[in-house]
Amino acid sequence: MIGHAPAVLGVDSGIRLLAADSPQLNAHVDCYGPLPAVTPALIDAVAEAGLRGRGGAGFPMARKLAAVASGRKPIIVANGAEGEPESRKDAVLLTRAPHLVLDGLFAAAAAVGSRSCRLYAPAAVLESVRQALAERCAAGFEEPEVELTAAAETFLAGEKTAVLNRLAGRAAVPRDLLFSTSKSGLEGRPTLVQNVETLAHLGLIARFGPHWFRTAGTPEEPGTMLITLTGTAREGVFEVPAGIALPEVICGLGGTEPTGLRAVLIGGRHGTWVSSGALAHTTLSEAGLRHVHASPGAGVLRVLPRGQCGLYLTAAITGYLAEQSTRQCGPCRNGLPRLAAGFADLVHGDGNAGELEHVAGLVEGRGACHHPDGTARLVRSALTVFASDIQLHRRGTCETAMHAKRIGALQ
Ligand code: SF4
Repeated sequence: MIGHAPAVLGVDSGIRLLAADSPQLNAHVDCYGPLPAVTPALIDAVAEAGLRGRGGAGFPMARKLAAVASGRKPIIVANGAEGEPESRKDAVLLTRAPHLVLDGLFAAAAAVGSRSCRLYAPAAVLESVRQALAERCAAGFEEPEVELTAAAETFLAGEKTAVLNRLAGRAAVPRDLLFSTSKSGLEGRPTLVQNVETLAHLGLIARFGPHWFRTAGTPEEPGTMLITLTGTAREGVFEVPAGIALPEVICGLGGTEPTGLRAVLIGGRHGTWVSSGALAHTTLSEAGLRHVHASPGAGVLRVLPRGQCGLYLTAAITGYLAEQSTRQCGPCRNGLPRLAAGFADLVHGDGNAGELEHVAGLVEGRGACHHPDGTARLVRSALTVFASDIQLHRRGTCETAMHAKRIGALQ
């Protein structure tokens, strides 16, 4: 499903994250021009641009840059581990525009005075990065070496502390932080872990400046973002301006008829279900999704067409999330299996929605990472959006769930 040409609606500058004809260096330089010399002044330009992280947390990048710049011998880590099974944007970026990510990585390093660069991504996409680095070396670019590490293939592999564990040679599991990683991360050194899409935006801001970056998006959330659209007639990775109307994304880009739309899971498996009725006045930004208690996260939008069972799908995802926990903390060892079993009971016509709400409340805010919180968010939103379906399951009259079960579509 990877590979639809990205469309940038409402952006006229012609500059796109995936605009180069090929991943090769000459096409990259033809498209964007060379990366100019970078100084610490880039940090102020990033603050002016208002660039926020595109990996899910949405933290202002300039603050992260400034934090590591104040320490000794900082390390910059480009994080391309999506974890989320539906997400493809970082893989597309690393295979189709690896030089833009590398530009951003080297620009970040130069801005904070670092010579230590790491790139962490699934093994399947590292080859394109290796080739890009070889091309730059052959072209005589004088840049720091980049150490490549294959990411674990787990849901939590891209979580910041899991990344640091993996880079240190340990299992890629999250851990409690005693200190901020910008003060003491890898090898005890200040460490910036930054999503690869965010770095690609940085590579463009270093060339075209903050004013250009703000020509897309909203004043509060400027720029474009990559999204992964699934469950639509046209699936794929698309580049859209922040603040775009969601119906324009799902029906315009995705080609789904408004009448064929039941709900959308916004923000991936840790995300929030939003009903089709609530989408009409909803835009793809933190501010535009707040009223439906959702967030763009890392840009995964999973559409549930009419005729498919949201409870059934949520039960499958909750079971997956329970399995993917690293079982280090109480909420994951005890609470997530209870949520998964309780949701499966609902699908089978038993179960108790009130009990699920209660357990969701018990796990929230009690893990070393946000895995229990994200799982609780998913469960709660499903109980709200698909509330009327619970009765259908009690009566055994949800045709779509029975059909899905018969064909083994979801385990
Ligand atoms: S909250 Fe869950 S996933 Fe996160 S570290 Fe603890 S056990 Fe692992």
